[in-house]
Amino acid sequence: MKNFFEWSKDGESTNIFRYKGNDYQIVRKSFDNNFRVDIFENGVSVICDNTGNKSFAPRMKDIPLDEKILNWARNIIKRRVRKCPKCGGIGLVKKVGKYAREELGDYSEVCEKCRIDSYRKKAEKERVERDKCHEQERKIYEAKPPIIIGGFAEKIAAYKILKELDIPEVEKDGELEEFVWAKGILKANDGSYYPVVFLIDTSVKINVKILNISN
Ligand SMILES: [Zn+2]
Repeated sequence: MKNFFEWSKDGESTNIFRYKGNDYQIVRKSFDNNFRVDIFENGVSVICDNTGNKSFAPRMKDIPLDEKILNWARNIIKRRVRKCPKCGGIGLVKKVGKYAREELGDYSEVCEKCRIDSYRKKAEKERVERDKCHEQERKIYEAKPPIIIGGFAEKIAAYKILKELDIPEVEKDGELEEFVWAKGILKANDGSYYPVVFLIDTSVKINVKILNISN
């Protein structure tokens, strides 16, 4: 186990070390006076940490950072490379996070391959759900197409329609934090007016000319 890894001359990565049938390598990148350190397993980053974090704790204070990183990686690999309870393959196993719990609920830990598989499955499931939802909406709109109200010669006609709408002038969106809904009037390039309800992204700084309704 000793001399598992050694830094290359530029100090940015180590040799590739074969362990229990997999290839491991450490790569580090300078980041805010610290390093972002990745452990790669067969070319895929499976663990990422920052040398400013607790994992590089004071108990290792007297050792140079170069050495500390190698110790840290060696310990993780020694502790965590084992048989994956899901697929039975040998690899670095990690706790099942919240996002994957639905797919991997029966396991407390899995290897990277199983984790990625579960993310793919979940994304696919979500895509199917979304498509179903869009299809339903399409059918509704086809049966009853939306009518565009507008083309008024006078702005006041558009304003009257907005006033009748039982919604606030401006309202925060329920899900999208930075978005607000606002009533407004669009002026088309033929000079006619349309009442509209805008969804505005307030994180984007643009110059909006607010027209007074009574102008
Ligand atoms: Zn697995």
